[in-house]
Amino acid sequence: MEGEAPGGQAGTSSRIENYLGFPSGLSGGDLARRAVAQAQKFGVEILTPRVVTGLRVEGQYRVLSIDGEPDVAAHTVVLSTGVSWQKLPARDAERFSGKGVYYGAARSEAVSCAGEVVYIVGAGNSAGQAALYFAQYARHVVMLVRGASLEAKMSQYLVDQIRREDHVEVLLRHEVMACRGEDRLDEIVLKDCATGEESVHEAHFLFSFIGAAPRTDWLGGVVARDARGFVKVGDQLGPDDLRGWPLERAPYPLETNVPGVFAVGDVRSTSVKRVASAVGEGSVTVSFVHQHLAGL
Ligand SMILES: Cc1cc2nc3c(=O)[nH]c(=O)nc-3n(C[C@H](O)[C@H](O)[C@H](O)COP(=O)(O)OP(=O)(O)OC[C@H]3O[C@@H](n4cnc5c(N)ncnc54)[C@H](O)[C@@H]3O)c2cc1C
Repeated sequence: MEGEAPGGQAGTSSRIENYLGFPSGLSGGDLARRAVAQAQKFGVEILTPRVVTGLRVEGQYRVLSIDGEPDVAAHTVVLSTGVSWQKLPARDAERFSGKGVYYGAARSEAVSCAGEVVYIVGAGNSAGQAALYFAQYARHVVMLVRGASLEAKMSQYLVDQIRREDHVEVLLRHEVMACRGEDRLDEIVLKDCATGEESVHEAHFLFSFIGAAPRTDWLGGVVARDARGFVKVGDQLGPDDLRGWPLERAPYPLETNVPGVFAVGDVRSTSVKRVASAVGEGSVTVSFVHQHLAGL
């Protein structure tokens, strides 16, 4: 069940270069299309758009509430709900969301960026990829990085590519303080965190990639989560989390505090935020699902 479109975050990536089997890289959209076709070949039914809003335990069943649809009951559930981008903490940023301020790489906007200056906020791999992608269309790309170096969070191959790009500029220790405009974004106010000085810049396109948070509120009270809302599994579960654990066996490595409910990928506490890790954990979980079903 998928709330938006199959592919998740990976589907929004302009170029994935570190996934096994694609030495020249491929676009996230291409990877998502291939994955859907492959899953359907194996008989997977993909229900989309279906937003899951609740999980409850009824005996052997794990019952999912679906927005606007009847409940669905299953013996096992694999949570792979990932993360979504945090809102830009700048004055009036929300007023311009979709009107100059975008979350993630809104690739449909690339053509409109021709001849413009594009601002990218963030310093992770996704921000780096977006900077290189928009550099193909925009007159100039400015990366706004709060920290003191690009290397802290970004893979070195992307840092090297960015340094080679003439029209990508990196402003370290800079933050967006405010967004301004009438109907669309026209200006941003930047703060140089080293000096505290603020400056106003004309800006019509700003893409934000600052931190991502899991969307797991609907699991509260049923599935144990860490302080940031990521789902705990296996030996991350403490005695308090396992107070209601009804089985003789301990939870499997990717199993939550609810027997038969697993969590994989970015939504899992302390996960490595990569496509290969999410796919790998999903594949490992299949064997635990079989073991759980065999024990029913
Ligand atoms: C722009 C960008 C570029 C990236 N580039 C790379 C890269 O080059 N290499 C790499 O390895 N990784 C990359 N990543 C990271 C990678 O995409 C993620 O690690 C990976 O997609 C995690 O997969 P996931 O299935 O755990 O979660 P997600 O990709 O976040 O997918 C979760 C899915 O669950 C759906 N969902 C959430 N809640 C619900 C609900 N309640 N009901 C129904 N559906 C729901 C969402 O709509 C979403 O489709 C990139 C990420 C971004 C954003």
